[in-house]
Amino acid sequence: MEWQERIRRPEIECMSRDEMLTLQSERLVKQVANVYEHVPFYNRKMKEIGVEPGDIKGVEDIHKLPFTTKEDLRENYPFGLLAVPKSQVARVQGTSGTTGKLTLASYTKHDTEIWGECVARALTMAGLTEEDIIHVCYGYGLFTGGLGLDFGARALGALTIPMSAGNTQRQMMCLEDFGATAMACTPSYALHLAEALEEAGLVDKLKLKAGIFGAEPWTVEMQKEIEERLKINAFDIYGLCEIMGPGVAMECIHHNGLHIFEDHFLPEILNPTTNEAVKDGDTGELVFTTLTKEAMPLIRYRTKDLTSMDRTQCACGRTLPRISKFKGRTDDMKVIRGVNVFPTQIETALLSIQGALPHYLLIVDRENNLDVLTVMVEVDEQYFSDEIRKLDDLKKKIGNVIKQAIGVSVRVKLVEPKSIERSEGKAKRVIDNRNL
Ligand SMILES: [Zn+2]
Repeated sequence: MEWQERIRRPEIECMSRDEMLTLQSERLVKQVANVYEHVPFYNRKMKEIGVEPGDIKGVEDIHKLPFTTKEDLRENYPFGLLAVPKSQVARVQGTSGTTGKLTLASYTKHDTEIWGECVARALTMAGLTEEDIIHVCYGYGLFTGGLGLDFGARALGALTIPMSAGNTQRQMMCLEDFGATAMACTPSYALHLAEALEEAGLVDKLKLKAGIFGAEPWTVEMQKEIEERLKINAFDIYGLCEIMGPGVAMECIHHNGLHIFEDHFLPEILNPTTNEAVKDGDTGELVFTTLTKEAMPLIRYRTKDLTSMDRTQCACGRTLPRISKFKGRTDDMKVIRGVNVFPTQIETALLSIQGALPHYLLIVDRENNLDVLTVMVEVDEQYFSDEIRKLDDLKKKIGNVIKQAIGVSVRVKLVEPKSIERSEGKAKRVIDNRNL
């Protein structure tokens, strides 16, 4: 009962700025002393730059602390960053990295409880309660999506359906038979499911009212598309396994950014080149310090996710700051003929064009030392049955709109519906054939 109370009472989410700063500062001072004493990596890094725990008196001193990067996690793989004896680690989660090794995160039992609580708070933001039936079709396993949502739905006291990803036919059957009122997966899989449900004539038979989608950057346009097709309210949830998993930030019903649970995760938005804090509203790299994490606390972890911060009052009454939907990851950014291009920019452009479907693939090649970006996109069937001229017009239009959006000419390849492979997890949007 006490657990439920803690989740429901949004007091911690409605504190005054001063109260929150006091809480964060207390937690930060403790955490810094903790990592200095128990994590040799941080002890060494702090000594290298001449910083002692006593120098950190509060949140205002955060800039004195060293950064942590994904490479640091890789070098200390698998258990080099623990702040507790390994016997206290209750769980690991991970994501596959480009080098073949996992990016691994460790959790104590208490860490997993805080995780459940944060996800439950996130679900509460979406208006869900213990009365709801939550169909979790994120993958279960080392990936944090499935189990993270599961912990949260359980902490909330909702009926949890642990579907995991894949097997779309069975997903549809269970959605209908169990009367799920909410579902959670990647936005690209939600779209795939929407397509299959439409074909089966099932959309109107479902009781779905909300969708909790995350684990990949997606645009407002994509959100609207999913909402219309599934007839639900779609929410963006954010997290990363290094920090915790889903439930680091979440949209409330007003959909004007994602509230960060900053009582646990201290955010900074930095200029990725100068490492200086940017003004509220300006875009920069999101950096987190975990204030309460026990097993693997991270100091100033560089997420590589680009966003901006909004500290104005939200209509929901929460004072938790909001980050904008992600522009992309510095990792996803492609430099095409010297211009920075994000897949999300192209997604926004495509979804503004009648006839273009939300399934696309970007292919980057280098021909005669020149970058060539090909945008392959599915278009309505009618364009293939009608006269060729219409298809050519659409192709031209798509090329123009994308060029306006990103400032680079692209090649457009229109394909029939369902030509592009559907994803059951995180969508692959870019194939880069250049050997950079
Ligand atoms: Zn709000």
